[in-house]
Amino acid sequence: MGVVDDMLSADRIPIWKRLHQVPEEVDDLKARISALEEKLGGKWPADVCRFCGARAARLVSAKAPDIKGNVRENWACSKCNTNHVRVATPS
Ligand SMILES: [Zn+2]
Repeated sequence: MGVVDDMLSADRIPIWKRLHQVPEEVDDLKARISALEEKLGGKWPADVCRFCGARAARLVSAKAPDIKGNVRENWACSKCNTNHVRVATPS
């Protein structure tokens, strides 16, 4: 083995060893992101505050469904202290 080959040996220099792992990690992360995007189906998670974007919104109360089946929900965000109403429609 030549000097250059010896210098490029992944086992001798930790950062090069780490770089060899990066493509596999990127592929893993891509797969995980795709799975999450598919799970969300283009929608926001329910706990995302629509004012500040934090995942700190919690359902405080909900009224009984109206004649069309719509449920009026009151949500509160503990991050920005806002309250907002969402209308959940039957699917
Ligand atoms: Zn908020």
